[in-house]
Amino acid sequence: MKGHNYDPAWDYLIARPRKSQRELVGTIVSKIKKDLLPLIKEFNDFTIAFIKDKDRLGQYVTGTHSEPVILMNLKEILQGCDEYEVDYHTGIETTITHELAHAIQDARGLSSNEKQAENFANQYNDGLTPTLLRGRKKCT
Ligand SMILES: [Zn+2]
Repeated sequence: MKGHNYDPAWDYLIARPRKSQRELVGTIVSKIKKDLLPLIKEFNDFTIAFIKDKDRLGQYVTGTHSEPVILMNLKEILQGCDEYEVDYHTGIETTITHELAHAIQDARGLSSNEKQAENFANQYNDGLTPTLLRGRKKCT
């Protein structure tokens, strides 16, 4: 159950990306939810908020792990993809799954671990079940 009512508009400038970009993110989010949420026992859903703040590409809002809030500066992410020649799908997916790993770390009381978050994102991108989730299937 969602144990917070955090609104990113309290702290950040909310962006409104173009419809085609929102739809791309929506497709990627749906796939991540279908693939990963059944394996995550710490929460049942998460939300994405688009922000304009320039100093971050993606960020998990610490303390929202009952239903993680993930901030994305989509414009900066897509520019980064262009710069590093990463396709948009991979860039967006990796940003979200990286931040989801931080949410799991927070929910488990672990300190934020960049290496673990990177591995989580890379393993998912490679079609593998992330190590962080292995052997932790949700009870129904
Ligand atoms: Zn990180």
